[in-house]
Amino acid sequence: MLIIMRLDSSRIDIDRVKTKVKELNCTPHEIPGSSKLAIGITGMMQFLKEEDFQMLPSVSEVLRVTKKFKLVSREMKSDDTVIKFDDSSIGGNVLQIIAGPCSVESYDQTFEIAHELKEMGIQFFRAGAYKPRSSPYSFQGLKEKGLEILADIKSQLGLKIVTEAMNSNSLNSILEVADIIQIGARNMQNYSLLEEVGASMKPIFLKRGMSATVEDLLLSAEYIASQNNFNIILCERGIRTFETSTRNTLDLNSVPVIKQWSHLPVFVDPSHGVGIWDKVSPMALAAIASGADGLMIEVHNHPAKALSDGYQSLTPKRFNKLLKKITLLSSIVDREFLYEK
Ligand code: PEP
Ligand code: MN
Repeated sequence: MLIIMRLDSSRIDIDRVKTKVKELNCTPHEIPGSSKLAIGITGMMQFLKEEDFQMLPSVSEVLRVTKKFKLVSREMKSDDTVIKFDDSSIGGNVLQIIAGPCSVESYDQTFEIAHELKEMGIQFFRAGAYKPRSSPYSFQGLKEKGLEILADIKSQLGLKIVTEAMNSNSLNSILEVADIIQIGARNMQNYSLLEEVGASMKPIFLKRGMSATVEDLLLSAEYIASQNNFNIILCERGIRTFETSTRNTLDLNSVPVIKQWSHLPVFVDPSHGVGIWDKVSPMALAAIASGADGLMIEVHNHPAKALSDGYQSLTPKRFNKLLKKITLLSSIVDREFLYEK
């Protein structure tokens, strides 16, 4: 349920509505960044009646939200969510790129790639220190040592860090370095982890599970939003289908569907979506044409030597070529894109 308040509502009137929601054993959420003054209600709402709120002062409308997910739905908030960082933003009209290697492998490897990306104007650097690998015998990441390298990248190059949290054990040290916490496909439905990272109030990059529907993805985002953390970026990264010619099937249908159903920004990760480097750029461009708010791209200085996902990684040179094409495309899709080098 969504309570639309009059724009000139007093704090007393807003608090009165919130108190009433709590009396009915539900949770009120003031929806941030909305052009309307709105209070979303979550919880067991079967006993809630519109009349409970319609008569309260300053309430202008009471709406039922029809989707299973509530706080992340467009019904709850019609304007796009924009996540603000000190000198950049994600969502709204801006196209943003998150780039970097799959894993932090060494100090030199990470710095070399980060330097090249910074030169190209990239602001968000991705690299995993804790790696969820399909095989227990594959490289599992440098862990704490990897986080130390990322902390140096952040302080020396001023890049914002996107890195994955796999469980709560390492979360505190990840929170110290990450500007955005990635929740990977394998953990999309780890609901206790979602609540925990949600409560940290950090921006969360939530990747779609391999066999998750769009509704499943949005319900997972709802777990984060239920902690009053609306700084969520959704990511389409390919799903499992019968097709074997590519690593996954990049479901670009999901982009306009999510944009219609949710106010959250949507990114596409064509690197994991196709899994083959020479298919990454065409699908990256297709993702932007489909309405994505940004891309996550794996970039490696020596793909053949990478300890994870080398085959799907672009070299910095190839990545730079892609950036030039994105610049051209951005004017066609009427998006602001800042890398014009
Ligand atoms: C990654 O981003 O390197 C990764 C492991 O992604 P996913 O969770 O989408 O497989
Ligand atoms: Mn990877």
